[in-house]
Amino acid sequence: MRCAQCGWPSDETEVLSTHPTSQGWVRYRRCVCGRVAIEVVTPGGAGGPQVAGADARQ
Ligand SMILES: [Zn+2]
Repeated sequence: MRCAQCGWPSDETEVLSTHPTSQGWVRYRRCVCGRVAIEVVTPGGAGGPQVAGADARQ
């Protein structure tokens, strides 16, 4: 996944915090451009963890 604003790889952005949820983890990341994104990480089966992103900016 890449930043929707600047295209920076989200794997290389700063992790602000990670919170466990009933479905996995919610991770907040801040990109080099200042955009804050929310990742939802759910433990996957054979396919590995599934990551979904959302823009946290209002
Ligand atoms: Zn960015």
